[in-house]
Amino acid sequence: MTSTPSTTTHVSQSECNTAQDCGMRWFAQWYLGLRHAGPEGPPARVGSLGHACLGAHVLALADPETFSGPPDFYAAMLTEARKRHYLAADADWCDASQDLLDHAHLAHQAAHTLITSPEFDVRRPVVLDGRPLVEQRLHATWEQLARGAGLVLPDALRRALATHRLGMEGTPDVVHYGNAAVADLDAPVYLDDYKMRTRPVDGTPADNVVADPQGAFYKMLLAALGADGNGRREVVFRQVNVYAGRWMTLEDFIDPGSPYVVSSGLPTRDEKRMPGMVRAEVWREAWRVLEERRRIATADNPKGPRLPTTSEYHEANRFIEDLSYRKAVQVSRWRLDHTVCLEVVRDMLAAVAMRLAQVDAGITPGRHLRTWKQAPCVRPFGCDVSSPCLASLGSNNAEATLREHLGAGRFRLDVLPAVGDHDDAPEAA
Ligand code: SF4
Repeated sequence: MTSTPSTTTHVSQSECNTAQDCGMRWFAQWYLGLRHAGPEGPPARVGSLGHACLGAHVLALADPETFSGPPDFYAAMLTEARKRHYLAADADWCDASQDLLDHAHLAHQAAHTLITSPEFDVRRPVVLDGRPLVEQRLHATWEQLARGAGLVLPDALRRALATHRLGMEGTPDVVHYGNAAVADLDAPVYLDDYKMRTRPVDGTPADNVVADPQGAFYKMLLAALGADGNGRREVVFRQVNVYAGRWMTLEDFIDPGSPYVVSSGLPTRDEKRMPGMVRAEVWREAWRVLEERRRIATADNPKGPRLPTTSEYHEANRFIEDLSYRKAVQVSRWRLDHTVCLEVVRDMLAAVAMRLAQVDAGITPGRHLRTWKQAPCVRPFGCDVSSPCLASLGSNNAEATLREHLGAGRFRLDVLPAVGDHDDAPEAA
């Protein structure tokens, strides 16, 4: 095993994460280039389609002369759906399955929620070599990284990497100037990563002091390519979490036999029982309708109709007030100290270098079996290659087992591993 069959040319953040996480998984995905051939799950689909809407909107913003409002999101999603093989190349929305239409609806709704949110401050994307940095795949060589970002690797590390990888690559979602003028060199550059979540996004910490590995990795790329004003501008990494799940409707509560009505006849306040988020005004209206319905149904009671108690009023008002504070867009910011980022990225690269050195020495990297509930090895869809990995008896026959699964068509072999246009699955659900 002296040469790399997979033609991955640059180290990506996903490769580093996998190399740090599990040697066998790295071997299957980044050395053999094995990818699961099955369809993407709903969160990933909603994320991809939502990113397509966002990308179209930001690209339209980048051209202020012709910008006259958001572009056609369904056209952008159609292109994305064809690219990702959710639809055939010549298919249209009328050929889409109901599932795909539902996912497109959620993505459209999430994109609208995002761009109309006060938290959304993308005005001008950074332009690099004439291209706006909106889902652009960036490549930087080891020389550019050393010169522009100061990422000088120890000799042993450089040697292990240089024989297989030309440098680093990544696809940041959007890099922009926020509300600042482009000419203001003291203003920061924002490195935004959008996550379309199918679960409520409340409770994400807003400010983080510890550098984020994804942010650190992209910061190095921007510095190497001079997109941070050649080191003059501060880079702020932001994770923008957007709720892309279902919104409860009034009908969900008031339809006959609704499971979201408690024994008193009023709408439930238990959000865990609801399949999505609910807006304060929807829940308030549901409470009003159901309370009125209860009053009419009990009008003939000898003691008179059943009226809401003081405690029912109190609890309902408190819940409505809680709901009005819920956010559908939550932004988390990370401070990216350059020295800390250098250290974090060097460590990420060291993990890849170690795996490459192992295969160069003829050793198949070992597996990190994890057995707790929700661990990637145990959780359904937790690891792309769990079935061949767990089917093989030991790391020695792992390669043969992986290749056998490839032959059975359960996997496909990518020339360049298709991590999509985003380094991460859109939702680390
Ligand atoms: S199933 Fe577990 S041990 Fe096997 S490759 Fe996946 S993460 Fe690694």
